[in-house]
Amino acid sequence: MLIDAHSHLNRYDLVGEGALDSALGEITQHRIFTISNSMDLPSYERNLAIGEMCSLVLPIFGVHPWNAPKYADRLKDLSEVTERSFMLGEIGLDFYFVKDTSEYPDQRKVFEFFLAAAKEQEKIVNLHTKGAEGAVLELLDRYHIPRVIVHWYSGTLDVFKELVARGVYFTIGVEVLYSTHIQTIAQEIPSRQLLTETDNPHGPKEFTDTPGMPVLVKNIIQAVADARKTTVEVITQTVQSNLLRLTRDDPWLVDTCVKVLEEH
Ligand SMILES: [Zn+2]
Repeated sequence: MLIDAHSHLNRYDLVGEGALDSALGEITQHRIFTISNSMDLPSYERNLAIGEMCSLVLPIFGVHPWNAPKYADRLKDLSEVTERSFMLGEIGLDFYFVKDTSEYPDQRKVFEFFLAAAKEQEKIVNLHTKGAEGAVLELLDRYHIPRVIVHWYSGTLDVFKELVARGVYFTIGVEVLYSTHIQTIAQEIPSRQLLTETDNPHGPKEFTDTPGMPVLVKNIIQAVADARKTTVEVITQTVQSNLLRLTRDDPWLVDTCVKVLEEH
């Protein structure tokens, strides 16, 4: 079984007619277990519906840092939904793409809301850290979140090493095909903390000019295998057992993620 631990399946609606059906077709055909992250309330509603269509899709709720200003003053409205979600994501901070520093306090407020919920509800978090890796590290320490997936890490090797030391799992994605920095990170992640992702459909677009399709994860696995001087089979097996280890004892995931991973 292949693992795409960070995708946005709801966004295939924006790609065009039939795009979601094609994506779900690939997920089923190639057996790609997919964690579909949300960026706000409407995207979560859509992801829940998509999760009903395919047993290999795990919909999760989060508010992306780009949307933090919309939700910072209505966090109460998120409580019930947050409580129902299997995992929390996509959440985090972004001080790179968001240039307007007046938005940063809202980003922190929303992120801390989710970290407090993750702590209290013992949930896994799926994190965006672009340009804010040090600040994210500080907050993870403050909230003592034990199970963390960091998506598309592209920060310094210093902060990377700190995150590694805390047992964080990392999803390597499309940039491993193009960037030597990401290849180095892919090489340095301890075997037990390695996961794969696509950030489909729009994440890959900045590299390929076209929206990514789920089967892209195979190219990513190949590139990770190349960076680590090993085989596709080893990476596939490693990533599957890592996600299983991360989720195995999670009461929120035992009937979904764990069941599917154990069956394959
Ligand atoms: Zn994402």
